[in-house]
This record gives sequence, structure tokens and C-alpha cells, in this order.
Amino acid sequence: MAWHAQLALVLALVCLPLATAWCSGKSDACSSNPNPLWQFNALNFHAETCNLKWNSGCTILDKYGALQQKPPPYSLCTSGHQPAGLVPVDAYTLALQNNNFAPGSAKWTLHGLWPGSAEGTGAENQPYGCLHGEEFDETILTTFGGLLNYFWPTNAKFNDTMLCFILSEWMKHGTCAVIPGADGTAFRLPEEDYFRTAFVFANEFNQNPALRDQLLGNVQLDDVEPLISTRCVQCAYLATVGWTGTDVASVPRMSGDCIDQCFECGDYWDTCPPAQLDSTVMLNSSNAPRKKSDSSSNSDGIASFPLLEFAMPALTPWEQGTWRSFGAEQGGSGKFEFAQTFTDNVLTVTTDSPYPQMCTYERRGPKELVLRCGGDHHLEDCLVQRLPDIDGLEAAFLACNHTGEPAPASFYAAMDTKGCGNFLMFRCKASAAGCSFSPDAISASKPKTETKTEPESKPSLVSHSQPGIAGAPPALLGSWRSLQVSSDYEKGLAQWNFTADDQASLRWPNYPSRAVQRYSVSHSDEDPSLVLLASASGTITTCRFQFQYQPVYSYAVLDCGAAVDNEENTSTQNRTKWAMGRCNPCSAHCRYSCGPENDFCGAGSCDPAESVEAASVDALLYHHDWCTPEDSGCWPTKTAIRKLEQALDPTVPRLGVRWRSYPNPQPAPVPMGSIDNQSFYGLGNAPQGLRALYYYEDMAEMQRPCFNPADRPAVWNTASDMCKAAVRQNEYRNWNPFIVVFPLNERHVIAALNFAARHRLCIATAGTGHEYNSRNSCPTGGILIRTILLKDKTFMPTWREDSTLAPAGAFRFGAGSTFAEMHAFSKDYSRVIASGWCSTVGMVGFHLGGGHGPFAPSMGLGVDNVLEIEVLQVGRNITNGQSVVHKKIASRSRNPQLFWAMRGGGGSVWGVVLSMTIRAHAVPDGGLSHVYMSQTGTFCPDSSKFGYQWLRGMWTRFTAWQLSLNQKVSTQPGFFIDTSQYKKTRNLCSVTWEFKFEYMYAGGQAERDYIRFRDGLKDVLQTETVQEDNYQSAYDYVLSMPANKFTLDPVNPLPAPHPPSDAATGSQNSVFVSRQALETNKFASTMMDVLDICVKTLKNPDMTSPDASGYRCGFHYLYTSLTGNLGSTQPGGTAISPGFRSALMLWNARTLTTQQSRDTVYKLGPNSYFSESSYVMHNWTARYWGEKAYEQLLDVKKAHDPGNHFWCHHCVGDNPDDAFGEPLGAAA
Ligand SMILES: Cc1cc2nc3c(=O)[nH]c(=O)nc-3n(C[C@H](O)[C@H](O)[C@H](O)COP(=O)(O)OP(=O)(O)OC[C@H]3O[C@@H](n4cnc5c(N)ncnc54)[C@H](O)[C@@H]3O)c2cc1C
Repeated sequence: MAWHAQLALVLALVCLPLATAWCSGKSDACSSNPNPLWQFNALNFHAETCNLKWNSGCTILDKYGALQQKPPPYSLCTSGHQPAGLVPVDAYTLALQNNNFAPGSAKWTLHGLWPGSAEGTGAENQPYGCLHGEEFDETILTTFGGLLNYFWPTNAKFNDTMLCFILSEWMKHGTCAVIPGADGTAFRLPEEDYFRTAFVFANEFNQNPALRDQLLGNVQLDDVEPLISTRCVQCAYLATVGWTGTDVASVPRMSGDCIDQCFECGDYWDTCPPAQLDSTVMLNSSNAPRKKSDSSSNSDGIASFPLLEFAMPALTPWEQGTWRSFGAEQGGSGKFEFAQTFTDNVLTVTTDSPYPQMCTYERRGPKELVLRCGGDHHLEDCLVQRLPDIDGLEAAFLACNHTGEPAPASFYAAMDTKGCGNFLMFRCKASAAGCSFSPDAISASKPKTETKTEPESKPSLVSHSQPGIAGAPPALLGSWRSLQVSSDYEKGLAQWNFTADDQASLRWPNYPSRAVQRYSVSHSDEDPSLVLLASASGTITTCRFQFQYQPVYSYAVLDCGAAVDNEENTSTQNRTKWAMGRCNPCSAHCRYSCGPENDFCGAGSCDPAESVEAASVDALLYHHDWCTPEDSGCWPTKTAIRKLEQALDPTVPRLGVRWRSYPNPQPAPVPMGSIDNQSFYGLGNAPQGLRALYYYEDMAEMQRPCFNPADRPAVWNTASDMCKAAVRQNEYRNWNPFIVVFPLNERHVIAALNFAARHRLCIATAGTGHEYNSRNSCPTGGILIRTILLKDKTFMPTWREDSTLAPAGAFRFGAGSTFAEMHAFSKDYSRVIASGWCSTVGMVGFHLGGGHGPFAPSMGLGVDNVLEIEVLQVGRNITNGQSVVHKKIASRSRNPQLFWAMRGGGGSVWGVVLSMTIRAHAVPDGGLSHVYMSQTGTFCPDSSKFGYQWLRGMWTRFTAWQLSLNQKVSTQPGFFIDTSQYKKTRNLCSVTWEFKFEYMYAGGQAERDYIRFRDGLKDVLQTETVQEDNYQSAYDYVLSMPANKFTLDPVNPLPAPHPPSDAATGSQNSVFVSRQALETNKFASTMMDVLDICVKTLKNPDMTSPDASGYRCGFHYLYTSLTGNLGSTQPGGTAISPGFRSALMLWNARTLTTQQSRDTVYKLGPNSYFSESSYVMHNWTARYWGEKAYEQLLDVKKAHDPGNHFWCHHCVGDNPDDAFGEPLGAAA
């Protein structure tokens, strides 16, 4: 039934008599409930009495001692009375309406949000187990009046019956709304939570065109009732946590990552259970499931409702029963399988292995289990986690720390935790037909005679032709620990191995006498999950392969069913189903899945180096074996260089950096003073453009700085071609490359990498050269691979790996793309990219480092928007130890740890990036509004307007304004101090400041928030002058800027006599300022402390300062262009620091000493921005990433760059104890 038909019926039934009589909400006894409602929805009411349905009794005392209807218990059993391993709701139904009847209200109105089922049609079929009702609390109407009016506007057509309507909505649907909790528990949503969840969802639906597209598909928005996944409702619920506001502006946004997950299962709700919310989510424990013993009422008929501790499931914990498992830890032998039986507080391990034992156990939290095992009752802390079901099997993960140390904190960390026994566990769902996986018959003492006597068959490779596509589908490639499920489960642990040469083998690690079975493999071209195994005798077995990807570990089911014997006889006798698991191939530690015999991983190629033992890789940490010019045994000769040049197709014109003026996008940044605003000082303007290769013929030249700070920019225009080709921002320490190459394609990059590996050259990579801290330079010369000419671009309306991750499509850009080029291209498709502020910054460095910018609060940081990275690496051939260049694709499903590391791990240490695929965003409704205002003043110490004292108040007002910003606003304020007159006057009133304030608003200028923020900032700066613009594309914004707005300064900022030191730290001291530091006004006072340092050095110059006058004044950028704004989404799964993710502001301060930074800015937050920070930094690993994350990054680095070819200053793999960037520190 369409929503308006339902509505009409409800209204007819409920409201026609007299609305208020029915809608007054509170009734003292069941009999006062409105009669017509039960007629409409008999589920909630007893037909005879019209009472709301209760398990027992129907009243409870309210706080005034009066009787009220009691809140109901909620059944957590499935309709089949199975323990609710998962909540018995697999979808919600939602009715949507285009609001064209109430101006000023939300454009789209949502009606109801109620649990249904995948096959159900919403209200008619709702809900499983929802047998109870609850009264409508009228205070909701007053508390949320504004929101209700906005999202549920009254409709004159229906006699403005909102009040009745809401009541009936709650009665019908809200009373039944449940949210899955941890471990299969569920929580009925209390009324306020239900409405808040519905508001968040309504708001998201209005604000987020991508979500609308997803929910509606091709359906026109009139009269629709889409099904939405429980995960989506969870996302809306999660956004409500901590939200206490009651107006539209305060409604939080749903997390983008969470929304992404809403759709990851397409329409297959039943195979994609809702995520289990963990204990960090404050679910209302009064709505937790009750213990069976609690169900009785006391003598007054008043039931007691004990407050259960959240996520401590009292009712049949999910783990109860028997599971079969195999070891999943890194160091494990991979030989054993186990059966774990959990009964009330006792765990019995019967096993094929030498470890049978009995332990008592105790749940300590949603994911924690404590075992007391063996005679000595030693304690083991375990992590338990339920994983999504697969093909009739339930799955779980258990990691127990045998060492007495705490359990690993996460599924991810478990693999890295030494002394931890990890298990992937499976068991048959009760409902799964044909699944026989009972281990009851298995025990350690059970004789294994029968299984060892199988006839041995000589393994022989098969090569006959097969139907379909040759080889296994990519996700099946590799080796899997496997257990039979359907029959013969006593056979023990097996190992399936699917290789890239279209072969598969099945072995039994514990039974060497059993023959290895070999097959050749193909799969159906129409349905890749259909895998065909051809045995040596010609028997073809058809198997269905199902795959469940989880971070770190994956598992699968291979269901080998009907056998077709020589294409004649069909038999179902040999049906065999396998539960299979492994850690994800190509993860840094996943060595048991990825060895030399198994040189592939998923669809990418597996770096053989990953199978090198960790101990031997450790030695690589600081060991650089780079060739130096002094070593003629490896340093490239002219002949070798010419050969490389030939491999780079030198006659093909390289014109890609020549700029023809606006409206063509700038292909590269303009170095300071460049004539005609050309990049590379016009080097690319030659008729043939750039050359393929430049190098220093005279090695003495290589040691000299290219761009001397003492010279004027005019002189820099005449620098050598080599200098121009290598031009980069801030060339600290004058580390010039020996060779610069400009590849045009992948083949060229491979040639350069092979050359570098052959000559053991340190490899640096650069695109635009914008990097502030010389991370595009090697201390020993080496080779600079300049990817600026890789400028391919493609728009993909649908992102093939997972369209739900990029509802507005995706762009793939070559590594040389600048944001100007990306914006120009995305404009053609009416899309936006979450770029940085500077239009000539390059895609690669920005995304590797984190990436904040004008659209980050609404669209995410750079790292949040990367979908795939194509990278060339230098690995080692396991057989001969030689270097090999190979390509890897990093994405959520391919090389996921590399993907994690490359999104925030920074620098060029992962290889040479060829391209990145970036999420596209729709242009926000109302376009992109831009606001600029400024204020100037002095350092006059008196209380004059815009003087030094005025500043103190200004920072406090600024702070309040910052704290109010929502996700639509992204700011780039710069505070500049001019001391040029002070030397002459010695008067602080001659020191001037200018606060230049620009921000971007994702929406139109008529929006209430736009006006609120603009006027608020006018008050902060006490100005009336505002420049306002509105753009329909980000490229229009780029075109509004002068071509040389962001020049690249090619000099060394810290030449002698102030080389990098604690007194001259270089670049900028950055800190991610936490919201708390702003709330407590710590930011404002710290800012004044920093300005006091400036004033102090004006009076008493500090001659250790790199400033010629000895001042420490500089300037400050105060970006609020992160994801800390109200309503911004903060997805996880990237390597950036926690401080980066949650900070409200990034403060980049200039010219402070290390100590001054420690005393001031660094106190505002533990983390700094990798891409905008000081050259000199102590504890840089902790400030950039945190120690634990750094260790993981280092592991990924070791696995993917085993020869340590790629290095950069204060990048993963650099010397963590070197604060200063000493060349020796780098090469030691
Ligand atoms: C004027 C200016 C404005 C800026 N504005 C912002 C901003 O708004 N937001 C923000 O977050 N950051 C900003 N930054 C910082 C910027 O994100 C970093 O400097 C970033 O590293 C620049 O990337 P790039 O590719 O342009 O520079 P490059 O110097 O070319 O490269 C930077 C890093 O990426 C590596 N790299 C480049 N290309 C490749 C490749 N193909 N393969 C492997 N590694 C590669 C380099 O080795 C180096 O480590 C700004 C910087 C400047 C100079």
C-alpha cells in the first residue's frame, strides 16, 4: 500500500472523530486506547480489549506513583525461536514524499521508518516479533516541534492533522524499531531515539543526493516505499549519539563511510546482516533484552526492568554452542583444527591438535572473554568477534593471548600480537539444510585410522580444455585453510591452493599419506562464482564460491555440488562443501597465504618479498645501500644514461607543462618570478617541450644550490636546464638529483625503476614539487622520477569495484594531475572533487599525506575519497634475489593494508604512483559559495581598537565562531604580521597585522546557515566589508584566482648560518587543534602567547632565528578545513592520526623554535600534519601517526619496498631518532 493510502486510512480511522481525544497520548489503562488503531494494526493491540499487547500485565507505576502503561520487553528471538544471533530485522521500510505543500519545510518528507523484511512490503508485513506497543509521549511534540514541522510539515489537505499522524506513526512503527547491538543483542529504540533517528535520516535524505539516488534508483519520488538496510538505520542512529539539539541546524549528518556500507550488499539483505554496534555506542540499556528470569511480574503485576549493562548479553550469548575452527595466526603451523564448545561459562576444546583442554570463561564486555584454563588456571584474555554469516554458516573470530598480556584490541591487531592464538570459527546455522558440521564425534582421542587409509593417487597435472574462463576467479587465488562442512567433517584440516596458472590442489597437512588431488580450474564467464574443477580423469565438478572479505582475514565457502562425469552422468553423490579462511593475501604479515609457490594475491601480483621472514627484513630498517658518485662500480655511466634515455622515447614531444593562460587549467605550479607564469621557468616551452631525461654532466654542479636566496628571481629564470627540471619547493640541504626523468607512461616508469634498481640509486619522486620538506629529494643524488606528464583522466559514472562507495561516480587521474586540471575536468560532469585550497597542488602528494581543503568538512579529507591507487614497486625475485618491478593495485579489496598505508602514510616510500581513482561528488544544491573578509590592526599595546588588546577579544570571538561551524563551512584564515617598520620606529604601533579570511560554503547564499556564519564572522572581525561569490563549479573558483597566486619557492629556507636546528626548525610548526582546546579557550590564550614571543623578540632580537632581524613573528594559517566541524563525517580505515581526524582546526605557525612550539602550539594537540609541518621535528613518528600506527606503517613499508629503494625525509622508514634530517641519519 502506498504511503498516502496508508496515511489516508490512518487519518480516516484515527482523526475523523476528534483528533485530540485519540491523540492525548497517556492513558491509565489499556481500555482507553483508541479503538480504530487496533483495527488498523492488529499486531499491537488485543482485538477483544483493544489493550496494547504486553507479555504480562500492562501497567507500571510512573514517577508520580500513578499507573501507566509499562514499556514493553522486546523479543529478541527470531520467528523460529532461535537465539537472535542477529536481530530479526533485515530491512526497514520508509515512505517518501516530495513535499510541495509546505514552503520553508524540507523538500522531501519521510513517513515512518519501520522494520520490515526483505520480502515484506512494509507495514503490512511488519514486523517480526514486534508484539508490543508503547504510548506516544506528547512532550515529543513540543520538544521537537520545529523539527517535526520542518521534516513532517502539516498538510492542509489532511486538515493539518500532524499531531494525530505522528502519534499513529509512532504507534504503528516506532514502537517496533530496533537497533542491533553487540553480539546479537538488540535494543528497541526509545521514543526520543526513534524520532531523532528519523530526523537524522530525513535530513540526510534531503541533504545527500547520493543517498537519495541509492535509495530510489530509477523510481520517481512520488509515492515510494523503498527498503533500506538495517545498517542504514544504524548509521542514522549512530549520528544521533550525543546530539541533544532540537533545531534543524543542529541535526547531525550520517557518516559517509557508514552510508557506504549501507549499500554494500545490494539487495541481498539476508546474506548481509546488520553490523553489530560495539560498546562505544551508548545504546539505551533500559531497552536491552531481558533475562528470561526477569519476565515475571511481581505481585502487583508490576514487572521489574533491571538495567542490564550494555552489551553483556544475558540471553544466550552468540558463542554458546560448538564451533569448528582453524588457526589463523601469523606464526601458526596451519596444521591443526579445533572444536570449541561453549556452554554456560565452560569452554571445552576438543581438537585434532595436541591442545585439548577445558577452561572456564567469563564475558567481560561485548568483545572480551577471559579464560581460566588448565590445572594452573592461568588466565587468557581473548577478543571475540562475530563475523557476517556466509552460505548457511555462522562465522566468528577468536584471539586469545596465551602470554597473560591483554587481548589484542582489534581484529586487525590480533594478527600482529605475538603469543596470541587466533581462530577463524564456523558452525552451521540451524536452518541450513545439508550442513553437517557437528564436531561432537571428534575428540583428541578419536582414532584416525579411517582417514589415513585413503588410496594414494599419483598427482598429475591436467591440461584438458574446460568450459568458461580459464583459471580461478581472482578472489579465490591463493591458499586456504579449509574444513569440510557437508560430510566427512572428520577428515581434518585441508589446504586448498589455487594458482595463477589455472591449477588447484587439495592437500591434507596432517596426513601426508593422503594423495594430493589436483585439478585444472576455470570459471563461468557469466557467473564468476561458478568454479569448475577438472580432475586428471576428466571429471568436472561444479562448485559455487562465496567470498566474505573482512579486513586482515577473509573467508569463503566452496560448495562443490553436482558432478558431471565426462559430460554424461549427473550425480549429486559427491557434494562437498568447504569452509575456507586465510589472512588477506599481500598483507604485510600474511605469509602463510603468500609464499613463493603462491606468487600472486587476489588480482594483483604478490610481492615475493612478503614471504621473507620478518627477522631478515628487520635488518633493512636503516640500511640503505644507495650508490654514491664516488662508487664507480655502480654509479651510472654516460652510456647507461643514454640507454635509459632511449627507453624513454626521447623524440616524442613532451608539451604537457606548457601553459596557454586561463581558462586552460594550470598543469604545474609557477616557481617564484617565472616569466609569463610558466612552470619549470619555461623549460617546457621549447618546441619539443621537456626532454625525456636531464642529468648533471658535471658532478661539481650537482653539489651547488640551484637557486641561491641571495639572487633575485629574475636570475633564477636563467638557471641551468637541470636545475629547472628538478625545481621543487624549499630545497632544504640542496639535495639535487643526479638524473631527472619525465616519463610519459607506465613503460617509461618501469624503465626508470629498473635502471635505478640496477645502479642502486636512491629513488625520489615528484609531481608538482610542492612538498614543503624536501620529501621529493634524496641525499645522494640518485634519480628523480617526475610524474608531472602522466595526465590521463577518465570519468566513471559507476565505480566498478563497488558503486556504492562512489554514488556520484569516480575519476581516475594520472599521477601528474594538478587540482586545477582535476577541477576543470570534473566541471564537465557537474561534479566536484574534495581538493586542497591550492589549485596547483598535485593529486598524489596531497592524498598520500591526508589532504584538507575547501570541501573537506562536507565531502571528506583527501584520504577519505581515494578509491584505488595504481603503483609500481621494486620487489625481489625470491629465487634469484634480483630486483623486479611490478604493479600493484591498492584498494579496499586489493592489497588493503597497502591501501590503508597509502592513505595518510605520506611520502613517496610506497613506490611510484601511476594513477589514483578519486570519488566524485555532486555539486551541492545552491552551488559553492565563497566569502572573503579581512581586518587589519596594529600591535599598539594600549586598548585602541584593532590594537594588541583588541586581538585578545578577537581570538575569543573567533573561537566561538569556529565552534559553531557545521559541515558546510571550510575556512582558510591567514594572520600575517608586518614588522618592516619596527626597526626604524621601535614603536609597537608600527607593527601591523592583517587577518585575511576566506571560506567556502557548500550551498547557496540564501541559506540560513550561510547568512548566520557570514554575519557571525562580521562580528568577529568587526567589519562590514564582505566579498561574496557563488560558483557552480570548483573550477569557476579556480578561475577567480591569479595565475601566480601559489608560487613555488625554490630556495633552501635554512641555508647557513642557520641550517636546520632546534632554533631554526623550517617550514611551519603545525598542530591539529582539538575541539576541546577551543572550548576551553586554550587556543585563544596560546595564540596570544605566540604573539607575545613575537613582541619579545621585537624588543630583544633572537639572533638564532632565521629571520635576518632576529624576530620570531612570521604568520599563521588557521585552517578549519578538516572533518571536525559539527555534522562532518569522520570515517576510519586510513593511516592518518586520530588527532587529524577529530581536530577542529589545523594551525600552521611560522618561525618558532622547538622549545617554543612545545610550550605553545604542540600543547594544543598531540598530532601534526605530515604535509604541512616543520622540517625539524622530534618524535615525528608519534606526531604524524602515533607510535602504534607507525609500527604498522613500517611493516607495510618493509613488505612493499624490501630493498628500501624509496626514501624521504621524516617519511616511513626514515630514522625515527633523527629530528634534523641529517644526510648521515638518512644513509646510516
Ligand atoms: C602553496 C601550497 C598550498 C598547499 N595547500 C594545501 C591544502 O590546501 N591542503 C593540503 O592538505 N595540503 C596543502 N599543501 C600541502 C600539499 O598537500 C603537500 O605539499 C603535498 O605533498 C603536495 O603534493 P604534490 O604532489 O603537489 O607535491 P610533490 O612535491 O610533487 O610531491 C609530494 C610528495 O608526494 C610524493 N609524490 C609525488 N608524486 C608521486 C608519485 N607519482 N608517486 C609516488 N610519490 C609521489 C613525493 O615524493 C613527495 O613525497 C599545500 C602546499 C603548498 C606548497
